[in-house]
Amino acid sequence: MTNLSNATHGYHPVTLKNLADTPQWSRLSPEQRQGIRTVAQVYPFRTNRYLMDELIDWDAVPDDPIFRLTFPQPEMLSPRELSRLAGAMAQDDKRALKREVEEIRRSLNPHPAGQLTHNQAMLEDEPLPGLQHKYDQTVLFFPSQAQTCHAYCTFCFRWAQFVGMPGLKIASKEVEHLSAYLKAHTEVSDVLITGGDPMFMGAPALARCLEPLLEPELEHVRNIRIGTKSVSYWPMRYFSDPDADQVLALFEQVVAAGKHLALMAHFDHPRELEAPAAREAIRRIRSTGAVVRVQAPLLRHINDDARLWARLWRGAVEQGAVPYYMFVARDTGAQEYFQVTLHRAWRLFRQAMESVSGLARTVRGPSMSAHPGKVRLLGLSKLGGRRVFVLDYLQARSAELVGRPFFARFDPEAVWFDELKPASPDDEPFFPDLDDGLKLAAGS
Ligand SMILES: *Cc1c(COP(=O)(O)O)cnc(C)c1O
Ligand code: SF4
Repeated sequence: MTNLSNATHGYHPVTLKNLADTPQWSRLSPEQRQGIRTVAQVYPFRTNRYLMDELIDWDAVPDDPIFRLTFPQPEMLSPRELSRLAGAMAQDDKRALKREVEEIRRSLNPHPAGQLTHNQAMLEDEPLPGLQHKYDQTVLFFPSQAQTCHAYCTFCFRWAQFVGMPGLKIASKEVEHLSAYLKAHTEVSDVLITGGDPMFMGAPALARCLEPLLEPELEHVRNIRIGTKSVSYWPMRYFSDPDADQVLALFEQVVAAGKHLALMAHFDHPRELEAPAAREAIRRIRSTGAVVRVQAPLLRHINDDARLWARLWRGAVEQGAVPYYMFVARDTGAQEYFQVTLHRAWRLFRQAMESVSGLARTVRGPSMSAHPGKVRLLGLSKLGGRRVFVLDYLQARSAELVGRPFFARFDPEAVWFDELKPASPDDEPFFPDLDDGLKLAAGS
């Protein structure tokens, strides 16, 4: 499919402004074009020519999974919302349109799990913007220059960060905060640099984030992870971008300093990983000594098929990457459109596991990043004649909850942890009543 020499053309973002200039625009029906333009008022839209030219199968549009990954879909809004937006657009009434858009966005739970209020790292009673510390070992760092992506996933729970609603942005310009915080927290072994996409940053900005972590005072920081979708959305980042070699040299520097460097590469569909450009990117990243770990959310319309997951994990192992997490999609943005029940998520996970060898069974899931921790659905069982879900915590605010199987009443419709009920009083400690009713927590 991809021809590497074609793929190496410079970076071409596609937004609503230039979408009509792409050769593929004329392949869409007038209704499809109108649908994209309307829904993109609410959900931020950005894709690029690599995705459009190399990854989307235009003969399969609108069902093509990669099309659904970055092009807003009419089903992501209610018919009523759609027609109100379309009405305001048709009348060219900018103020009415703005009002509609803001109202719809507010109803979409822009900050699941109190990302703004919980997990906030503090130093001497001062909150440190751009730093979150939820689990003992791992600090999350959100560099301000990384609050965007090479393309926007239509299911993204960070979408609020991209649309510039005032007061909704989580960002930090200050790497010094990160260093100061880590010096005061010698229990932290891991730093996870996240966004948006940190690999959107140029090599100098990336070096400003990474180099301070290599200082002798931060000897206790052993593992540095970078959460990124770039291997899928812009693999040229690692071989033909002007600063590709600088980026790789930086990775080598981190590895030479004795740190474990992991690219937590987000792939929603095996096609992204199989593309020749992605293969080349993975080859080059691995040649620096960095490890590529593969993770993704389970999404209806995009990857809710056990065969796709087995193909993804097998393909990862084949390329020397490590399957890591399968996440359950969280309750923000267009979750209804992408939602898969927990019961079905577990069946898909199990079916996929069954057909891969042990080397791919490093993957863990289906996992919910819920307010008290990362909860994995281990499966179904029976307790006193009643069907139950068996769960455990992969990570928890209260570390003593980790790794202990517990039970919830079976609920075939449940899509998230907060809908589950303890199966017996013994299970109640696993459902901590965490303050203000906010549902989930950060981190992917
Ligand atoms: C997932 C996650 C981590 C990393 O957890 P691991 O089990 O080490 O992969 C850290 N912080 C937050 C907030 C997370 O959601
Ligand atoms: S790459 Fe990640 S942060 Fe960026 S739009 Fe997709 S899900 Fe959101």
